[in-house]
Amino acid sequence: MPLLDNEKGSLSIVGIGPGSRDQMTVRALKVLAGAEIIIGNDTYLEQLKPLLIGKQVIRSSMGKEVERAQVAIKLANTHNVAIVSGGDAGVYGMASIVLEVLERSDIDIPIQVIPGITAANAAASRVGSPLSGDFAVISLSDLLTPIEIIEKRLEAIFSIGIPVVLYNPKSRGRPHNFSKAMTIARKYLSNATPIALVKNAYREDEKIMITTLGEIERYDNSIDMHTTVIIGGIETRTWRKGTDVKGIITPRGYHQKYVY
Ligand code: SAH
Repeated sequence: MPLLDNEKGSLSIVGIGPGSRDQMTVRALKVLAGAEIIIGNDTYLEQLKPLLIGKQVIRSSMGKEVERAQVAIKLANTHNVAIVSGGDAGVYGMASIVLEVLERSDIDIPIQVIPGITAANAAASRVGSPLSGDFAVISLSDLLTPIEIIEKRLEAIFSIGIPVVLYNPKSRGRPHNFSKAMTIARKYLSNATPIALVKNAYREDEKIMITTLGEIERYDNSIDMHTTVIIGGIETRTWRKGTDVKGIITPRGYHQKYVY
């Protein structure tokens, strides 16, 4: 997919990062500056407020993604349209549904996907380096994926001992999926396994907690739909200075080859 340069009638699906504007890419900022119409849900548009001056803004609500994709494609026939998505648009975001709707239509417009910092990277960066090598990402939302399939995937990824990032760990509609996931994790990982809970990463009300698999139940009430959870793998350890917990490190293996 080529990068678009202000052609008449185009669609950009823009990942706007986890929260604060300085976590957006320069490319994302440029594309939004060049857009005539910006479409997104309220939370994301709020985040972009100063960038919306002079633009036509179309607000959509959560759960209306298909409709939003259809509107964006239709308008992109004649205008430069940007549809915004939190974090990375291709990770549990708007990119796939927009491309699917376009694939099924007979509309042919230039389209591009602009990457953004996804929650896994944002959360990891706030606690050190827990995702230094292989890791897995899984969403506990059963809105589009049946819970039986999510459980099967959790079994598979926890069984191989790599760090696991949980998106959508909890919401009012599914309060128990997180504890189900922890029950599966305990089958394969020790109680000492470090866990990071990062709520609202790079937003005003950011909250960071570091605990262990053995203690995680005590944090149950702190976990919500704005939280990303990182469960360490078998090599992951807590980084301490005296009694202070400084963060989480998953070593890449340099210590086996070098003295430092
Ligand atoms: N496309 C987004 C993910 C959307 S799924 C991305 O790439 O980041 C929504 C989930 O992402 C939330 O339930 C939460 O688990 C996670 N998330 C998104 N933004 C976050 C943030 N700023 N801090 C912590 N978690 C976040």
